[in-house]
Amino acid sequence: MERRLGLVLRAVLRIASSLLYIMGMSSSTDALPWDLYDAYLFDIDGTLLHCTDAVHFFAFCEALTALAGRPMNLEGVIAHGNTDVGILRDALLLAKIPDDSWRPRLRETQAFMCRFVEERIGDFRTTVLPAVETVLLHLRARGAVLGVATGNLEGIGRLKLSHCGLLKHFVFGEFSDAYEFRRDVFGGAVKKARRLAGPEARICVLGDTPEDVRSAKAHGIAKLNIWRW
Ligand SMILES: [Mg+2]
Repeated sequence: MERRLGLVLRAVLRIASSLLYIMGMSSSTDALPWDLYDAYLFDIDGTLLHCTDAVHFFAFCEALTALAGRPMNLEGVIAHGNTDVGILRDALLLAKIPDDSWRPRLRETQAFMCRFVEERIGDFRTTVLPAVETVLLHLRARGAVLGVATGNLEGIGRLKLSHCGLLKHFVFGEFSDAYEFRRDVFGGAVKKARRLAGPEARICVLGDTPEDVRSAKAHGIAKLNIWRW
């Protein structure tokens, strides 16, 4: 059974990404088997699902255009491994828009983006990566606490998860609404995981970018394994 689930996980990871990182932290220095952690923090995009629509992208373009007062898009901005707030910041920095002209409008911009995406949910094209649901069900059956740690704004991340039926598996999440940097999202997520699973909880992080690794390490979560395909 364990071997079969191990193979299932490999299948998930193979299709999920060409490179997927699994990191774990426990009181022991020994790495635990992948399904024996107390709590799991999953990245969303590229780890649990793929979005092949451009709804989120157009939400950025519209928000940036409103903030800059001229047409803008994400050209030249690294979105992978970033946060939604960080993507806005990097795009506006690149366009030389002064901080003090947009930061006071950040909260209303976030609300605008969430509304923009929600109104276009009919255009969503989300694909759950194969066997992800099997893995999540297995971890839940073992009593693990499952959460998401994502750079998405909450209103957008929740829509992606609910659109493809994954939201029900997670009991908590940390999103980027209050954070500009991914490592701070992870910090919030680790705190929530410990509140739910106990102060000594062994935590496993799954993500698909080097920034996920850096962010996990910033909170004492040592690298457990890197899957390369
Ligand atoms: Mg990702």
